[in-house]
Amino acid sequence: MNKFMSSLYKDIKEYIPGEQPRDTQYVKLNTNELPYSPSPLVIKALNESAVSRLNLYSDPTNTGLKAKLSQVYGLDTKNIFISNGSDEVLAFAFMALYERGVAYADITYGLYKVLSGLYHVDTKVIPLAEDFSLVPEDYIGIDRGVVIANPNAPTGMCISLSDIKRIVESNRGHVVLIDEAYVDFGGESAISLVKDYDNLLVVRTYSKSFGMAGARLGYAFASEEIIQSLEKIKNSINPYNINSLTQKAGEAALCDMEYHDDCCKKIIASREILKKELEKLGFEVKPSCSNFLFARHNGIPGKELYLSLKAKGVLIRHFDAPEICQYNRISVGTPEQNGILVNKIKEILSERK
Ligand SMILES: *Cc1c(COP(=O)(O)O)cnc(C)c1O
Repeated sequence: MNKFMSSLYKDIKEYIPGEQPRDTQYVKLNTNELPYSPSPLVIKALNESAVSRLNLYSDPTNTGLKAKLSQVYGLDTKNIFISNGSDEVLAFAFMALYERGVAYADITYGLYKVLSGLYHVDTKVIPLAEDFSLVPEDYIGIDRGVVIANPNAPTGMCISLSDIKRIVESNRGHVVLIDEAYVDFGGESAISLVKDYDNLLVVRTYSKSFGMAGARLGYAFASEEIIQSLEKIKNSINPYNINSLTQKAGEAALCDMEYHDDCCKKIIASREILKKELEKLGFEVKPSCSNFLFARHNGIPGKELYLSLKAKGVLIRHFDAPEICQYNRISVGTPEQNGILVNKIKEILSERK
């Protein structure tokens, strides 16, 4: 073992990101990126003058971006936090807010477990129902923090705003974090509850619906108290957490919500078409409020389908956890990409006969 590494961190289990291959050109449906470029306004904002100012530090208070987010989402700038990808605000939240423990689902975003380990947070893992739905009752009055991805990943399924409200209301002494990475593709946002509940933290990202995963930009809404705790951690670790190009890009994207909403509509329409096509091929597909589908086929093991598709140039995401290893998570691509996926699956199924 590494003799230089602190024993505090030696044994942590790291997060394993989805494949981001740089060698082959795949049809890439494995990490839930938007298959469309960001708004043209974003491309225009990253011009020569923006680059020429890279000699200066970025704004550590993210004032411009917060003002724009305040305009679009209707909350005060005091209730907004900006992070380097939403993974960063998740990390700060686990570090700053869950001294008295946290609860989350057994099947959900893998980073939560990593952060529990990293920050030694006492964790209660709550199984989803057999059909992978999250049971709100399991989180009512649980007397610890709560983290829920809504819609959930990798299942794509969501719970209602009224259920979230009940969970937040019944845990007023603890922070309830709702991770809304996929909410723009069909979930109900909890942002409207932030002004009424000082224990609610809503986490968002530019990585999915804004098509800006490479920019590494996340944001969050909460009471001033929660935001101040997050700022304290941020200012102690990385005060200039957002670079100036990303700040500009983030503001520009918010000036073109029409483009954003349009992309979401296209993905939702493609998702429903793809779901039907997969069902015609014999897949069982979970209901999805997100930009991906969670599906299994009785005739072919999940891992084998993943590997066969990879060999044919299509990447999807497979997880080894036993409860879900028969499934694959498939990001919704452009109609053309989805068509290639379906054709390759047809080939694989007929080659197996
Ligand atoms: C993709 C994803 C994120 C976001 O990550 P970024 O760091 O913003 O790219 C957060 N939560 C869930 C559940 C996700 O799937």
